[in-house]
Amino acid sequence: MTRTTGSAAAPLTNGMPVLGLGTWQNTDPEECRTAVREALETGYRHVDTAQAYDNETAVGEGIAAADVPREDVFLATKVWTANLAFDDVLSTTRASLDRLGVDSLDLLYVHWPTGQYDPEETLAAFDELSDEGIVERVGVSNFGPQHLEEAVDVLDAPVFANQVELHPLLPQEELRTACAAHDVEVVAYSPLARGAVFDVPLLQELANDYDTSPAGVSLAWLRAKGVTAIPKATATAHIRDNWESLGVTLDDADVARIDALETRDRRVDPDWAPWN
Ligand code: NAP
Repeated sequence: MTRTTGSAAAPLTNGMPVLGLGTWQNTDPEECRTAVREALETGYRHVDTAQAYDNETAVGEGIAAADVPREDVFLATKVWTANLAFDDVLSTTRASLDRLGVDSLDLLYVHWPTGQYDPEETLAAFDELSDEGIVERVGVSNFGPQHLEEAVDVLDAPVFANQVELHPLLPQEELRTACAAHDVEVVAYSPLARGAVFDVPLLQELANDYDTSPAGVSLAWLRAKGVTAIPKATATAHIRDNWESLGVTLDDADVARIDALETRDRRVDPDWAPWN
């Protein structure tokens, strides 16, 4: 059992910090700016937003306000489903850059394979942004194995990451295997199951054993799986608690106990999701 205090920096996987800050529903500009600034000043170097979150301006202001150079921050956003026609990908990504106040993005995702998503057309625009150097890495989100395979075939750029819901109550083994087969990083969204992990007795027990919180256990479990996590937090105590999960290393036996949980809970499940 290992628990150390604090951590100077999140480890990187392929240049991406394995712990980032999520910002979905952080729409109050002041709260969002403050959370981003506090996270960066705590040590986070990865921030996740999206066109649909309506907070790119505040995220950019938080990055600018933090005492951390922009080039040290891994910044990701996502193109919304209505903006996935070729010209719209180009124009709305430029608008995202303007709102964020940056010249380039570290990672740009297709948010969902639905709406105006057309693999040939959409991904050609992502390739163009990548060729222009505006986008460092191309990612996808909410892609199942078939959509992923198709994107790998169609894109010239490598598919860097697939961002999907993933936590101890939704371990996504099949999807993780499909990503590994194509050298695609997995980024876990809703890594705390939007709060549901806090009520799982095993995670409460392990939190006690490792002197952390159930959030810390979930994030350490994801790290043990080689998965990057982007918990959303606005409360300072939550931002810090999640950061301190980097000091928690679960024993293999405890990872296996979490793997053996049978409860399943998907928290983000719109009718138009590809799995419905
Ligand atoms: P989450 O990170 O699983 O949970 C966030 C909730 O947990 C918030 O209510 C937060 O409260 C609370 N919390 C955070 N840390 C805590 C801690 N240590 N102890 C107690 N409570 C804590 O849920 P999420 O926002 O759905 O997912 C995270 C990020 O993934 C999103 O923000 C977004 O960036 C991304 N995402 C992407 C997609 C997609 O389609 N690609 C979908 C969903 C989410 P406070 O805010 O009050 O601190």
